[in-house]
Amino acid sequence: MAPENTAEKVRRGLEALRTRLGVAASASKGLAARAPGRVNLIGEHTDYNDGFVFPMAIDREIVLVGQRREDEVVRLYSLDYDQESQFTLSRVEKDPQAPWSDYVRGVVDVLQKAGYRLGGFDAVITGDVPQGSGLSSSAALEVAAITLLDGLFGLGIEPPEKARLGQRAENEFVGVACGIMDQFISAAGKAGHGLFLDCRTLAYEHVPLHLEDARVVVVNTNKRRGLVDSEYNARRRECEEGAAFFAARIPGVKALRDVTMEQFAAYESELPEPIRRRSRHVVSECQRVLDSVEALKAGDLERFGQLMNQSHISLRDDFEVSCRELDVIVEIAWKTPGVYGARMTGAGFGGCAVALVHKDQVEALSAAIRETYPEETGLTPDIYVFSAVDGASVLAVESEGSA
Ligand code: ADP
Ligand code: MG
Repeated sequence: MAPENTAEKVRRGLEALRTRLGVAASASKGLAARAPGRVNLIGEHTDYNDGFVFPMAIDREIVLVGQRREDEVVRLYSLDYDQESQFTLSRVEKDPQAPWSDYVRGVVDVLQKAGYRLGGFDAVITGDVPQGSGLSSSAALEVAAITLLDGLFGLGIEPPEKARLGQRAENEFVGVACGIMDQFISAAGKAGHGLFLDCRTLAYEHVPLHLEDARVVVVNTNKRRGLVDSEYNARRRECEEGAAFFAARIPGVKALRDVTMEQFAAYESELPEPIRRRSRHVVSECQRVLDSVEALKAGDLERFGQLMNQSHISLRDDFEVSCRELDVIVEIAWKTPGVYGARMTGAGFGGCAVALVHKDQVEALSAAIRETYPEETGLTPDIYVFSAVDGASVLAVESEGSA
């Protein structure tokens, strides 16, 4: 999937609305909406510890082009799956023939359950967020759908609420237990900025990334992930044990996010392994997010890069969620001149690594990874250079034919 600009996606969506669903879009009833995928720059496995994350929205997006109907019918057409799926508002169920439609069905379901009044609509979906690669095409699809419906039916939903509704659609309807980060950054991202998010309070702040001379490079290991669910659940349990240990000793502690580095140091000798190392990762990672925000506000990319490196070491050695493939990519990046920092990103055991690189060294890094990674792993990487873009937005559509 090569990146394609937004206007081109809207144009193709409008065309498909006409040719696939037989709808001539009108400027008065039709609308388009877009929402981006994301990469988490730092703050890994902190979300379910009530901690901090720091993602940015990437220049890969899902676009929906839609139009209101006079009845209760919803007709969806996926350009990328070349398939239609239809349902009515009074009966929203999954479609096992078209699982891609479940994300939009889920959004319709949670919006209605939350009391928003919808009407029927026709919509075409297209996008270029790599799917199933850990760049959150699912959150982009949910947030784009909410943004489209918000615009079509004048619902007045603010970005944080879009995020909560998108997460609910994925948790309760699709049945995937994800945190709030992906939907939040897709809804509330800001061009040129990372999003500092407190996963407990959902307080957030846009922090400038100073990417003038730097680029965010994301490398997909393309490793088949096996262990991820069972290991993820094990880490969550271990973190709960760690939190319970500190809660019993320090007033006011509810989650590992509440434990400071000093408090951790004071008690760590009493903690059994692996709870000690798991807790150390979360406590130190939360601090690294705070330090990253400070560093970036000061324009200090070198410092931010060091924090990314420390994050990787902590995820590898203390949290034990890295894998050889991720380590190989990160170590190539660490050896490449002009790389500020590099780390695994996402849940781990595969998925992607992210590096912050001087713009003049992107080619050298890509070449080094393309050469060494297949030799070491037998796998072929995908390499992306992303910029930080705005979160979801609505786009007016011209009358059909003039767009
Ligand atoms: P990730 O969110 O990491 O990309 P998921 O498995 O959570 O991976 O979500 C991917 C799913 O989202 C796809 O299998 C598909 O059902 C849906 N999806 C993503 N992008 C599109 C698209 N462009 N068109 C239709 N469905 C999409
Ligand atoms: Mg997903």
